[in-house]
Amino acid sequence: MTLNITMSDKITKSKQEWRLELTPEQYRVCREKDTERPFSGQYWNHHLKGRYRCVCCGEPLFSSESKFDAGCGWPSFSAPLAAQSIATEADSSHNMQRTEVLCSKCGAHLGHVFTDGPQPTGLRYCINSVALEFQGDQASPFQKILDAKRGRE
Ligand SMILES: [Zn+2]
Repeated sequence: MTLNITMSDKITKSKQEWRLELTPEQYRVCREKDTERPFSGQYWNHHLKGRYRCVCCGEPLFSSESKFDAGCGWPSFSAPLAAQSIATEADSSHNMQRTEVLCSKCGAHLGHVFTDGPQPTGLRYCINSVALEFQGDQASPFQKILDAKRGRE
């Protein structure tokens, strides 16, 4: 067996642990690769400036700068914040050939990437709102307190 350790800060947790930490909907989407209903999430029509982090591990994944309105009912981005924060995998479920998008740090299912996005990337990262946590650029000082509080729970 070959051990291939490129990132030492990967997060691996059991299903039980994730189940305790996430809401049922977050668990269903992020850990069981479900998809939220279009136009149902909190971010498809969200236009504030800031970053979208992985709801499971807090890794910054997307910026509001690459967010665009694809009209599909899910938050859509033309590029990730950093290429290495995203992992992709071929997904042939539901009789479709798609490319699944995952958080490279914790393996959370985020959504899919399609090749019908705007230039220059031509990509459309179609992501479930429930897999993301928005952090505004003008985060109030209370955000840190909230984060700290959440970390304790
Ligand atoms: Zn993650």
